[in-house]
Amino acid sequence: MMQSLVIGNWKMNGSLSANEVLLDQLLPALIDLKGVQIVLCPPFPYISQADSRLLGSQILLGAQNLNAQESGAHTGEVSARMLKDLNCRYVLIGHSERRSLYGETDTDTAQKLIAAKLAGLIPVLCVGESLQERQSGSTETVVARQLQAVIDSLGIETLKGCVIAYEPVWAIGTGETATPEQAQAVHGFIRRLLARQSAAIAERLPLLYGGSVKADNAAALLAQADINGALVGGASLDAAAFAAICQAA
Ligand code: PGA
Repeated sequence: MMQSLVIGNWKMNGSLSANEVLLDQLLPALIDLKGVQIVLCPPFPYISQADSRLLGSQILLGAQNLNAQESGAHTGEVSARMLKDLNCRYVLIGHSERRSLYGETDTDTAQKLIAAKLAGLIPVLCVGESLQERQSGSTETVVARQLQAVIDSLGIETLKGCVIAYEPVWAIGTGETATPEQAQAVHGFIRRLLARQSAAIAERLPLLYGGSVKADNAAALLAQADINGALVGGASLDAAAFAAICQAA
């Protein structure tokens, strides 16, 4: 059985002092947790702070975004190599907020994913449909397009060692969650779509669910056959809630 993976995405939240408090509360609660890999994704300026606090724990670090270029005249941007240098192991790619607020396209996500892999980071490719797309019955079409764009440009083998997060946009930060059945239906669809192209990759690729995962809905979501973990936004800023989610995984 695949090890569960729970990623906390702090988004653009926190401060040196608030992070200290959160990590002080979180670390004792998570330190002895077995059978689940936990990853924290702080904003860029706080990666080193989290890194020094996580030293000696099993919890790994991730980042929320990167620039696909290697280096050079890209004011305000952060490269995959810099993240690696800061001890990040994971990086979110194509989060819906990147796509909707910052205009990232499927092509951009493919470029970021390969840049992450080349630097030795584990990309967490985020996909998911908007409310309008769900209501018009195009959930599978949208998710398939987002995934296939990456596969067509980089090849299915590139997904080896990656993670995919299914995050229905209508459930992100809204308090509304996909039911375990709705989430499993899309996760099963993703697994089958990948399996048609490589059974070996589909079988081993962790599929995370994200979108208002909370302490009280995590167990039911994580019990689904094709849900291998969670990508947690809001609840990852609450030590008790995040610890409970990790314990449910
Ligand atoms: P949420 O965010 O848990 O606050 O809905 C999830 C995400 O955006 O990764």
